[in-house]
Amino acid sequence: MADELEPLGRSSEMKANNHVVIIGGGPGGLAAAKTLARKGVSVTIIDENPDLGGQYYRRRTKGTTELVGDYRVDGTHLISSVKKLGCTILTDSYVWGISNDKRSLLVENSLLGKSTRVNFDFLIVASGGHEIQYPFTNWQSTKVMTPGMLSRLVTVDAIEPNGRRAILVGSGPFLLAVTSHLIDSGVVVDGVFELTRPYRLTVFSMLAVFFPAKCAQFLHYRFKLFSNGVKLTQGSRLRSVQDSYDGITATFDKRSGGEQVVVESQLLGVGYGFKPNSEVLEILNVERGESTSFGHFYPRVDRYGRTSQQNVFAIGEVSGIEGFKSAMVGGVLSGQRILRDIKGVKGFASMYVTLVHYLRSIYEELFAKFLKKLYRIDLEDFPLLDPEVLLCRCEGVYASELDGVLSQCESDMAYVKAETRIGMGLCQGRMCGTALGIIVKKKYPKSISPGFSIRIPFRPVAIGSIIALESEENRDYIDG
Ligand SMILES: Cc1cc2nc3c(=O)[nH]c(=O)nc-3n(C[C@H](O)[C@H](O)[C@H](O)COP(=O)(O)OP(=O)(O)OC[C@H]3O[C@@H](n4cnc5c(N)ncnc54)[C@H](O)[C@@H]3O)c2cc1C
Repeated sequence: MADELEPLGRSSEMKANNHVVIIGGGPGGLAAAKTLARKGVSVTIIDENPDLGGQYYRRRTKGTTELVGDYRVDGTHLISSVKKLGCTILTDSYVWGISNDKRSLLVENSLLGKSTRVNFDFLIVASGGHEIQYPFTNWQSTKVMTPGMLSRLVTVDAIEPNGRRAILVGSGPFLLAVTSHLIDSGVVVDGVFELTRPYRLTVFSMLAVFFPAKCAQFLHYRFKLFSNGVKLTQGSRLRSVQDSYDGITATFDKRSGGEQVVVESQLLGVGYGFKPNSEVLEILNVERGESTSFGHFYPRVDRYGRTSQQNVFAIGEVSGIEGFKSAMVGGVLSGQRILRDIKGVKGFASMYVTLVHYLRSIYEELFAKFLKKLYRIDLEDFPLLDPEVLLCRCEGVYASELDGVLSQCESDMAYVKAETRIGMGLCQGRMCGTALGIIVKKKYPKSISPGFSIRIPFRPVAIGSIIALESEENRDYIDG
């Protein structure tokens, strides 16, 4: 937990502005924006997508909505209330860096190809996370995607699922949620393959009874799988996928007994949980929280989402606690804390809201810790890659190219990057970074926190956009 921080210690001009900028228009960012804007605080929300909503409340396009109706109506209400409260909303806008004085964000509008500086007095980073992949033979097949993308195709984009079959592979409770979404959308699920063994009845797994609502949700998913004849297999490791005429053949190693299982289907969703979109926090030198088995960067935050940097908050999935409800709890608490800094403690209602959300966040954190232990993945759970496996899809680097380089550099990821170009492509290591970290760690167990270091721009942006930002006359500011 971060130490108690001083209230605003900036110039009087800044105190007068109290402009709050929120990166990410998902459930966390929206809840924070609503909490602040309804009390008259000036709020700007920046999101790279065409509309607000983030992962959970992702919007259907206008055409799809007209055709099949709205999706997650509570999200529609939340987004429209935030819009009505007069927040400045920058969509199609990606935060690719921070100014040298660390007081403004560098933001590119992808439609205009133009960058802007957005000043902030308070910054709430609610940038969520993205799904973790681990390569296997032919993972570049167009029939292979993440569970989130598979779910999005059939739910948000409402792509006709008739005749579609799929298998879900990886680890985490998210696989069950996605399986449930797929079944509801008419997809036939040919099996769920969990890498670990969380569903055995053990003394530890019985602690789930202390989270009755979550238990009920799990039983609901489990019953849905059962009643739709979906087999849930634990302890299976995906080895390879072969494309067939109208689908795929996936081969798994059963970790106990070593036998192989072959399953045919049409699509495959594979993911091993989430990696935080932590670039902004890392570049701001926010202190790191507890280390995780993948070595991902999670910030050290207190219950209000305050980081070690003054006036910088991190909430929702980027702070390590998954699920849309916990993101919203974090959003409300960070909003309440900023209101307290700006306006002082006011009224019983505000204290009551804070207390309820505070208690709720303790509950969510305990549950997150329980899940982390239940689905614990170890390095041995991942196989070493066969030489012909494509490791970096953007730059076309194969696993075989790693051998010589790794023996020269030990665990220096920057060296591996420079020598092989792994992680230098469009996605900047989003797809391959975790996998490379696992491979390096398996080879050099004593290496500390392997991972690519974060550089500005976080993602490729138009060069003209950066040049224009440097020219005084074209310099735009969005300020509170
Ligand atoms: C398909 C799917 C189904 C899910 N189902 C469930 C479920 O049933 N129950 C549940 O509890 N959870 C579910 N989840 C998880 C849930 O969506 C997340 O826990 C929740 O959305 C996290 O909220 P957040 O506000 O922290 O981040 P997000 O919702 O991830 O929002 C973050 C936003 O920030 C944007 N962003 C990130 N970096 C930048 C940047 N540099 N510049 C600009 N914008 C940026 C992202 O594009 C995104 O729009 C699901 C997730 C997916 C993908």
